[in-house]
Amino acid sequence: MKTDITTQIKIEKVTESKLDKATLSNRKFGSTFTDHMFICTYKNGAWQMPKITPYQALQLEPSARVFHYGQAVFEGMKAYKDTDGHVWLFRPDENQKRINRSAKRLAMPEFPEELFFEGLKTLLTIDADWIPTADGNSLYVRPFMIASGNGIFAAPSEEYTFMIICSPSGKYYTKDVGVVIAEYYSRAANGGVGAAKAAGNYGAQFYPTQLAIEKGYQQVVWTDSTHEYLEEAGTMNVFFRINDTLLTAPTSERILDGVTRKSIITIAKNQGIKVEERRIKISEIKEAATNGTLKEMFGAGTAAVIVPISHFSHQNVDYEIPKIKNRYSELFKKQLTDIQYNRAEDKFGWRYKVL
Ligand SMILES: *Cc1c(COP(=O)(O)O)cnc(C)c1O
Repeated sequence: MKTDITTQIKIEKVTESKLDKATLSNRKFGSTFTDHMFICTYKNGAWQMPKITPYQALQLEPSARVFHYGQAVFEGMKAYKDTDGHVWLFRPDENQKRINRSAKRLAMPEFPEELFFEGLKTLLTIDADWIPTADGNSLYVRPFMIASGNGIFAAPSEEYTFMIICSPSGKYYTKDVGVVIAEYYSRAANGGVGAAKAAGNYGAQFYPTQLAIEKGYQQVVWTDSTHEYLEEAGTMNVFFRINDTLLTAPTSERILDGVTRKSIITIAKNQGIKVEERRIKISEIKEAATNGTLKEMFGAGTAAVIVPISHFSHQNVDYEIPKIKNRYSELFKKQLTDIQYNRAEDKFGWRYKVL
């Protein structure tokens, strides 16, 4: 396939690949990396020569701004290989636009669209053998940008490093999960950075998530500042099914505008399912769980795709969600992954051919 590279990316390949095809399947999510990485630095007000190099450690001074002031944003996408060996991305334009929205919020420079796609396509073409094809496997692709300029005074960096690294990955969760609904801690605030994919958003939720894990749950579902309304799960947007209606919170400056979320809404509407994007009270969901009208609850995000939630806890009371037949979560997951892996017609124009 033609890859349409127009800018010059300086390419330095590994002398010997570390790929072990025998163990490519079902690797722990995000734990191993392909042979190469894409890297481009920003200085003197401009992006410099983009490069693809062997995957390797970075050299940064201890005073690099990212370590002190947390200017770091990232994206998460996946590359899929179909049975003919073609390589696909899913709606990568959404990720490209979103990393620049995130960058802007953190006072970082935008990364040019053309370079983003050329870097991505060239890297995936070079490391295409690393894309696993086993069921539920894919190549997780992580574009990110950090403040790599030096100086420990609290102001935006003058230098930045944009990179793309890739990790062959199996399934994120293999079972349904249990969640705790946040009553005290918050992930995001009005006017804050919740809508940005900022590294610090994750760092800030690790501690409350640890507390949830100690109680036997996997994730926290975050709430608004009053802790009355349900928002999102911090790595996933959250959906509820009451009777046959699909509910999800509207995106806002506190909630990340997930690509999986918006794709599910489109698929559901196309399927004739009633979808409501509106604020959802915890009391409404608890009542629905108690009277049996809460049929499903699930998280949705690129890494895990769709994860059914089997129970949730609020104010130390646990609510079970019985496993019904013909779950929406299974229907949406099948339709989404069939498009992603090129097993179905791409009726919404979401697939992007890499190779
Ligand atoms: C990445 C992310 C999601 C999921 O977004 P997708 O585009 O579907 O991967 C949801 N919430 C938060 C906070 C995220 O960082």
